[in-house]
Amino acid sequence: MIAVNNIRKSYGKVQALDGVSFTIDKGEVFGLLGPNGAGKSTLIRMLTCLTRPDDGSASIAGHDVVGGAAAIKSLVGVVPQENNLDRELSVEENLRIYGKLHRVVNQPRKIDEVLREVELTERRDSVVNGLSVGMKRRLIIARALLTDPAVLFLDEPSIGLDPQIRRQLWEIVRRTRKAGRTVLLTTHYIEEADALCHRIGVLRKGKLIALDTAAALKEMVGPYVVDQLSEDGRLLQHTARSREEAHALARSLENGCTVRRTNLEDVFVKLTGERIE
Ligand code: ADP
Repeated sequence: MIAVNNIRKSYGKVQALDGVSFTIDKGEVFGLLGPNGAGKSTLIRMLTCLTRPDDGSASIAGHDVVGGAAAIKSLVGVVPQENNLDRELSVEENLRIYGKLHRVVNQPRKIDEVLREVELTERRDSVVNGLSVGMKRRLIIARALLTDPAVLFLDEPSIGLDPQIRRQLWEIVRRTRKAGRTVLLTTHYIEEADALCHRIGVLRKGKLIALDTAAALKEMVGPYVVDQLSEDGRLLQHTARSREEAHALARSLENGCTVRRTNLEDVFVKLTGERIE
């Protein structure tokens, strides 16, 4: 459904994307995980035809991002990071205006449907200004779903949300996933990528440094981690190929150790020597 082939993009001296290639299947939820400045938003802007690659190519359902903007715009829904809702208008009015602009057929029924999907039916008459941050985010998702897009782009969908509200949002993404939509989401929340995505691409400084299922990425670095607190208070981490190996290692180390399963943060640290902030 989405093909990205050796894309490069620089802003002055900053190489925002440095030869990125991957494909996303129809119905797949694909996560781009990386710290701030990794190039995630640039990639979304490129796939939604807002900026052109300097080199390489990308296409959605066979339409090239350069030259195929009209076709691509009719196929995709975009949930941007910034809140670009009309704050003076109600939930329903925001959806009506967007629907009119995008010539949504059978609009009243579609509006009911998307409001139900994001659990905002009861707030349809509320003015946007009075909504919580989480509700606004849900409304932006509802708006993107109004055109029934084959592909949904979510740029850092839960940034700035409380953990509990974040989980509500995950439910919405899970429903979208069940509905068979192709989703590309960017995130710097490790658990978000782990919880929602079929496959995860790890982006760092404009380069894709790993791409696989969460399980395969964890298996790659070793499925178990031994956390060891050193005498000077530093946290040392050792990976192990099995639970037995991890426990044997924990016993052999002098300081207090705990054994746990590997998470995606460990994968990132192992690959880059850094943490995702
Ligand atoms: P992310 O979404 O992963 O945080 P971005 O794609 O926003 O990363 O940014 C990647 C790099 O490109 C960063 O170093 C950022 O400062 C730079 N960048 C992005 N957009 C622009 C722009 N319009 N002008 C100049 N530099 C930019």
